[in-house]
Amino acid sequence: MPNLSDLKTRAIERVDQLKDELIATSLQIHANPELLFKEYKSSATLCQLLERHGFAVERGVGGLETAFWAEAGGNGDGPTIAILAEYDALPEIGHACGHNIIGTSAAAAGIAVKSVLGELPGRVVVIGTPGEEGGGGKVIMAKAGVFNEVDAAMMTHPASRNMTMRGSLASNRLKIEFFGKAAHASSSPDEGINALDATVQTYVNISTLRHHIRGDARIHGIITHGGAAPNIIPEYSAMSYSIRAATKQYADELLARVIKCAEGAAAATGCTVKCTVTPGYANMMPNLVMAAEYEANCTILGRVIEQPKPVERMGSTDMGDISQILPSIHPYLKMVPPTVAGHTIEFREAAKSPEGHAVLLDAAKAMAMTTITLLGDADLMARVKGGMNE
Ligand SMILES: [Zn+2]
Ligand SMILES: [Zn+2]
Repeated sequence: MPNLSDLKTRAIERVDQLKDELIATSLQIHANPELLFKEYKSSATLCQLLERHGFAVERGVGGLETAFWAEAGGNGDGPTIAILAEYDALPEIGHACGHNIIGTSAAAAGIAVKSVLGELPGRVVVIGTPGEEGGGGKVIMAKAGVFNEVDAAMMTHPASRNMTMRGSLASNRLKIEFFGKAAHASSSPDEGINALDATVQTYVNISTLRHHIRGDARIHGIITHGGAAPNIIPEYSAMSYSIRAATKQYADELLARVIKCAEGAAAATGCTVKCTVTPGYANMMPNLVMAAEYEANCTILGRVIEQPKPVERMGSTDMGDISQILPSIHPYLKMVPPTVAGHTIEFREAAKSPEGHAVLLDAAKAMAMTTITLLGDADLMARVKGGMNE
């Protein structure tokens, strides 16, 4: 077995050598926020970075224009370890989830591993996974077979705490549309069927339901269309909801109950209703062996990993779906104080600050070291794979 601690030291040095180039890449992506599946510039920036450092890059994998597969091979047969890049931004508030850091740290980790790959078997792959914010890029890519040859996968998300074992919620997305009948709101209201009323009643029905769901579940939504003018009875209205829970089973159960809320409102108002379900994400199941290895590598970097709280606040991610099919981790590294949440202006500003750069470099180093162990230590890799069956 190669001397892994020596290889890890060299990978850390490689990240430090590339510091200026990496920070410039992260800032460039941050300054050009692109929405799901439109990440043309961000994807190209990362592909170019990887190509400059000797990776063979295939663009447009899995049927997604802005997805990519960048690989570098070692000195013989061995596992394929994937480091996943995200680089999509949010509507209106830009890189408020810090995906500029996720994408750049993934590429940087791959480049650092490549610098010692002559002494390791297997291969490292940096996979560009677009559309995490609601598009399910990883789900689409997994269905297209992109992950078939991957033995383990990882990524790192900026956050308010250092964590390796935090999970994520299973989710469903629901679009609800009501169809009524337009009429003059003053001269002939008796001839109208009010689609906005159905929306408001649905909102109230769901708020009532929310009192009687488990503590881990979340149901939240908005009215996206509520009519055209006050003097017209609205003939069309629409809502958009997200329904989440700790397990896919409970998220699906709640989805059925939310649809009943809409159907009840339709019956009460005389509207017809159309519900369109977009399957969301599965819950994240972190691989314990990989998480422990990542945690040990964070200790080398001076970062102390916290354990999740018994009632952890969580979102959802398409990495959850990957964790259901192969050993995966989705650790978090601290960029902001606990008072700052993701998807806020403060989080966005931090993603281009010195604290953001520190997460970028530490995430690259921790993932590079973890990949080196997975490639070089066959016993540990066997335990990683065994962990999927526990
Ligand atoms: Zn997000
Ligand atoms: Zn995110």
